[in-house]
Amino acid sequence: MIYLDYNATAPLRPEALDAVLAALGSVGNASSMHHAGRDAATRVDAARRQLASLLNCSAGEIIFTSGATEANNLALRAAYARGGVLVTTAVEHPAVLEVARAITQEAPGALVILPVDGDGVVDLAKLDQALEGAGERGVALVSVMLANNETGVLTDLQAVIKVAHAAGAVVHTDATQYVGRLPIDLDELDVDLLSLSAHKFGGPQGVGALFVRRGLSLPYNPLLIGGGQERGWRAGTLNVAGIVGLGAAAEAARLKMHDEAVRVTALRDELEANLSARLPDCRINGADVPRLPGVISITFPGLPADAVLAAMPGIAASDGSACASGAPSPSHVLLAMGRSREEADSTVRFSLGYATTDRDVEQAVEAVVGAVAKIRSVMAADAEP
Ligand code: PMP
Repeated sequence: MIYLDYNATAPLRPEALDAVLAALGSVGNASSMHHAGRDAATRVDAARRQLASLLNCSAGEIIFTSGATEANNLALRAAYARGGVLVTTAVEHPAVLEVARAITQEAPGALVILPVDGDGVVDLAKLDQALEGAGERGVALVSVMLANNETGVLTDLQAVIKVAHAAGAVVHTDATQYVGRLPIDLDELDVDLLSLSAHKFGGPQGVGALFVRRGLSLPYNPLLIGGGQERGWRAGTLNVAGIVGLGAAAEAARLKMHDEAVRVTALRDELEANLSARLPDCRINGADVPRLPGVISITFPGLPADAVLAAMPGIAASDGSACASGAPSPSHVLLAMGRSREEADSTVRFSLGYATTDRDVEQAVEAVVGAVAKIRSVMAADAEP
């Protein structure tokens, strides 16, 4: 099996596995005052610092959650409660887009969804218009993802922040696919809220975080009410092993990020160049704009993506957004980029990461070329009278 689905989930880093196992083997509730509880709290504090150093923020600005879905829900609900319009984009993950729709459904005109161009880049002129168009009502929140999960296309978040802050809006970013893959410095990038999930950068599944900038005052509505953990933002006994695994993965990603980004970009470019050369009619989505190192969204005109995937069982990749659901609906991201339904249904996402090798890429090229040839010959035979 060649695993090229890092955007769905990345393999657990060995450093994270060791940390999780060690934490699972020790007992202690991080809220308890006795020795075992203090030990658990010390481990959680260390993980908080490890994540803070990956983001260059302070440990006190991190709220641990069950993942990016929860972090996004929390961020959007809390910031929207300020009152005003919610502005987001057409290419967000459902964990933003669906939440935005749900919380604004009773308030006509309270949701503005910004379009993207053919490369998947947010139109900043449309953001200006949305901010002005809010008028008296004001803008509660602008939520724009840092990197798209299907195409890897990056956002110029600094430009978004500049205009959004000038209009008095709070800015949230879903940085789930970005964190741990490219450098981020929250001392410089003045975003107010940021969501992430550990399993995208080699930590365990089911744990993530919301960064909440110090001094940001929100009439927040916790999703979970109970024991008051995480400064009241997120009640419930802390997932110590998961958090410790997140911390270890964050540290490994921080230390190796530069080398991994260079290496993974080279592998991605090689895969892309080989596929483009051997399958000249395929099309790479977002090819001309800055993207994450390891992502290729590739359309094989006329060939259903599920058939391409089925014809190469040794390769783990995905059609559309595997992490969104198992439901066969066309990718809203590709549709927003102006692709037809057929094109969206003929698109496969390969996502490479820290453990991908040269040999994986060589074998993937042969497997894809073979799969395409096989499907074409079956289709040609079916078309014979
Ligand atoms: N946002 C983005 C951009 C994602 O890619 C994902 C995971 N596919 C999520 C949010 C949700 O992450 P999780 O399922 O870990 O909560």
